[in-house]
Amino acid sequence: MPTLRTVYELNAPAPALVEAALRGSERAVFWLQDSPGRPRYEPLVGSTTADLTVVGGGYAGLWTAVAAKRRNPGARVALLEGQEIGWAASGRNGGFCEASLTHGATNGRNRWPDEFDELEALGAANLDGFEADVAELGLDCQFERPGMITAAVETHQLDWAKAGPGYLTQDQIRVEINSPLFLGGNWDRDGCALVHPARLAHELARVAADLGVQIHEHSQVTELATARTGPVDVRTARGSVRSERVALATNVFPSLLRRARLLTVPIYDYALMTEPLSAEQQAAVGWQNRQGLADMANQFHYIRPTDDHRILFGGYDAIYHYGGRVKESYEDRPASYRRLASHFFAMFPQLGGLRFTHRWAGAIDTCTQFCAFYGLARGGRVGYTAGFTGLGVGAARFAADVVLDLLNGADTERTRLKMVRSTPIPFPPEPVASLGIQFSRWSLDRADHQEGRRNVLMRTLDRMGLGFDS
Ligand SMILES: Cc1cc2nc3c(=O)[nH]c(=O)nc-3n(C[C@H](O)[C@H](O)[C@H](O)COP(=O)(O)OP(=O)(O)OC[C@H]3O[C@@H](n4cnc5c(N)ncnc54)[C@H](O)[C@@H]3O)c2cc1C
Repeated sequence: MPTLRTVYELNAPAPALVEAALRGSERAVFWLQDSPGRPRYEPLVGSTTADLTVVGGGYAGLWTAVAAKRRNPGARVALLEGQEIGWAASGRNGGFCEASLTHGATNGRNRWPDEFDELEALGAANLDGFEADVAELGLDCQFERPGMITAAVETHQLDWAKAGPGYLTQDQIRVEINSPLFLGGNWDRDGCALVHPARLAHELARVAADLGVQIHEHSQVTELATARTGPVDVRTARGSVRSERVALATNVFPSLLRRARLLTVPIYDYALMTEPLSAEQQAAVGWQNRQGLADMANQFHYIRPTDDHRILFGGYDAIYHYGGRVKESYEDRPASYRRLASHFFAMFPQLGGLRFTHRWAGAIDTCTQFCAFYGLARGGRVGYTAGFTGLGVGAARFAADVVLDLLNGADTERTRLKMVRSTPIPFPPEPVASLGIQFSRWSLDRADHQEGRRNVLMRTLDRMGLGFDS
């Protein structure tokens, strides 16, 4: 009989243990604090010109600027960032750098069955290219490629674990990572690397600047002014760049193009970082091979070790706020942090007494096709990408090349993809968006409590290509 309580609820630790573990934690992004050499860049003041202006200093914008200079070292490239390089999703994510360009095989195969094999091959090549770039560009970002384990924590998930080639029995998975909740799992050895997210962003900026990109922080773009033909004026409060081409990499933030505004919504995701584990605590968990780890539910956790032997524990709650805005106050959600801490000790009861040092949240760049979309506007002078839906660390590197191909008017293997040419269905305006998203989350939660079974509405949305998966 299916139980209406998850394993995390059934194995919940005492509330006092959770409170004590969270008590000394700081609401701050560990990764951003742990990137001491971060370079700083002056705001844009006055008027200048460029061949290409990139808007947004996250991974997508940074890879675009780097790739543009590598393609054409003589090109004049500017990058404008509204706040600081990597402060948003790129500096606060889990650091799982996955090969998949389609937010997992199921989504890719369902949406683009004809080109799925090609998408998988391009994704694998992108991850290999990423690794090669880390070496070639000297990106000091704690890159490692241990693969990823997905763990079955409910018996019905064992069938999913057995479906892939890297099946691990209960004994095998517990030798890798010791949790009494793990019933089995799957180790994808090739498809995932781990990075230090903030250091990756800061290193990409350093490389871009070394290649000659003019980077400006605290330079929020307020307007793209265009005449029928000719260059685009990219305007900030204190300056402007007259540009032949513009690449928008503004992710979940309000798009400078009206047509793209309803294509993404921010869904808030929460994370905790522990203090460094002692040698005894490390021995109690195992994890010699340092894989990325997730569980198999619709609402999943993502978990990974750091270089200095902490554990990052994030995910599960995914919160949409009415109106779809990005707001700092949404990051303060004690109930989500308490739930995460409780699930952590349910997964690793042998670590009772360990403390969390950092807690933070970030907005997931969600769109209805669950992976990045691309396009051109203003007569082909402005290219854009967004909508990575929580899997953009690897895919942003691929997206950069797509946007540059599009802006160059090039016909490439990338630009011919249906995935690149398809536009996701926009989210409806409020209040429908809020009701729909809340209902999807509720249905997924119910499914996780009922052997993964989805209700009638979820199955209908799946068939329409709108099913919501974390
Ligand atoms: C908590 C969390 C965990 C995640 N975990 C993972 C993970 O483990 N693996 C994974 O693959 N993905 C993960 N993701 C998703 C991943 O971080 C993103 O997909 C990726 O960082 C997107 O990069 P980006 O450059 O598009 O966006 P961002 O990093 O958000 O950068 C966009 C930038 O554009 C700037 N900007 C916006 N508007 C303007 C404007 N008008 N003018 C100037 N600048 C502007 C913003 O200030 C921002 O710096 C996670 C996301 C979150 C929030």
